[in-house]
Amino acid sequence: MNIAAKPASIAADAAAILDRLGVDKAAYTTGDLKSFSPVTGEQTGSLKTVSASEASATIERADEAFRAWRLVPAPKRGELVRLLGEELRAAKTDLGRLVSIEAGKIPSEGLGEVQEMIDICDFAVGLSRQLYGLTIATERPGHRMMETWHPLGVVGIISAFNFPVAVWAWNAALALVCGNSVVWKPSEKTPLTALATHAILERAIKRFGEAPEGLSQLLIGDRAIGEVLVDHAKVRLVSATGSTRMGREVGPRLARRFARAILELGGNNGGIVCPSADLDMALRAIAFGAMGTAGQRCTTLRRLFVHESVYDQLLPRLKKAYASVSVGNPLDGNALVGPLIDKLAFDAMQKALDEARALGGTVHGGERVILGNHDAFYVKPALVEMPAHSGPVLEETFAPILYVLKYTDFDAALADHNAVGAGLSSSIFTLDMREAERFLSVDGSDCGIANVNIGTSGAEIGGAFGGEKETGGGRESGSDAWKAYMRRATNTINYSKSLPLAQGVSFDIE
Ligand code: NAD
Repeated sequence: MNIAAKPASIAADAAAILDRLGVDKAAYTTGDLKSFSPVTGEQTGSLKTVSASEASATIERADEAFRAWRLVPAPKRGELVRLLGEELRAAKTDLGRLVSIEAGKIPSEGLGEVQEMIDICDFAVGLSRQLYGLTIATERPGHRMMETWHPLGVVGIISAFNFPVAVWAWNAALALVCGNSVVWKPSEKTPLTALATHAILERAIKRFGEAPEGLSQLLIGDRAIGEVLVDHAKVRLVSATGSTRMGREVGPRLARRFARAILELGGNNGGIVCPSADLDMALRAIAFGAMGTAGQRCTTLRRLFVHESVYDQLLPRLKKAYASVSVGNPLDGNALVGPLIDKLAFDAMQKALDEARALGGTVHGGERVILGNHDAFYVKPALVEMPAHSGPVLEETFAPILYVLKYTDFDAALADHNAVGAGLSSSIFTLDMREAERFLSVDGSDCGIANVNIGTSGAEIGGAFGGEKETGGGRESGSDAWKAYMRRATNTINYSKSLPLAQGVSFDIE
């Protein structure tokens, strides 16, 4: 049996993975953008970045590719995405580990992220035979009216560090079957996983054989390169995932040139635990939702409203779970909570906890855990009992902080639940049908995702994913999210021998 030697360092581990996935060593050893692993804080690479003019040239090439790709029948385009799914299956172990190295996720979450990529490929392959429009009744005899969906053009993807590769796949798999070309600007904090993903795609493209050159491209760089993508006239849609701050800059720039936007921004997700809740189930869902991925999911549970009748039963159990959760090196395989991405995230967490204390909050946990390396930022997840829904509770802090509030009146809890800027994910724990249905109803949760008896995080790809208000309003992934990646034409065909005008207008010329 061949047992691979344990790599000497995380950088060596990453390099071995990149090598196996076919990434050219020069791409991550000879550049100006340094990449780091939050697991130890050590440097893992130095990547070549593109200049603004190179980025523009890349977009021009993608536009050329689009003009050829749109003529390929959609089911044939689906074949490329099917091959991508196959290549991702083969690379799952390596890419999952690289996600763990670069984003600090525990192994099951690193692998889960790659599984999401595979799932969306499967979804998109089926979709490639279902890009259908309506046939609509017309008011004119001898006429037929219908909708046709056409490819849009170059689709720009800007992604965040915390889902370094799945977000690309959600967008790219749909964009490609819809007949578009793709240009991706990954987070500058996770560029190695982007190189690896692109090498995997290139293998699929090679097997496919007939894809136009430049169909899918990568722009390594910081936000300035993202801005090139946002401002370029040939990019017809930008799907941008990241903070609400980023969305406030990107949204108006896209609107100014009438380009389309899918904005997937910050969340400040809430849950309500009602008197009839199954507390065993709620406890597990809350623990994963609030502490999983070290609180660095857009759908992380950040605010919990607990009815006064169950508060004293749930809180001790939650405190126990928080005190005993294993925080540690995610590559070792035993920890449930890995590191924060960097020092900035740690400082933001401590600032929010100080603000909560100043407002009378009682903080359990939240302190730094030193694991041998001062450049890595591990923390105990924080459980904060808050006297009021105010201060830091109203904002997303991208770290594992769960604010807990006691409630008496369901309507008041629901009003507080909705009284934040973000509107991404939400959940209610109840066995009372009236409460559950109310939460999902028109005057219930105002979020893009509203769940009953499951947590706020861990969405499946089959549903449309996204949120309202300051979360940006975009939808990606399943359901009919594909429509955002295409343009719709309404066609009316006259097969009669006369020319009746709509609305009974008469305009007779001699
Ligand atoms: P970020 O906003 O700092 O960066 C995200 C991406 O945007 C990066 O690639 C960055 O280079 C780019 N960017 C930043 N400013 C830009 C600009 N002006 N023009 C063009 N590009 C720009 O976010 P982050 O710290 O990487 O990620 C965490 C945030 O992302 C959290 O707020 C989280 O909730 C959010 N997020 C949302 C979703 C969602 O689906 N709603 C998913 C994942 C993460």
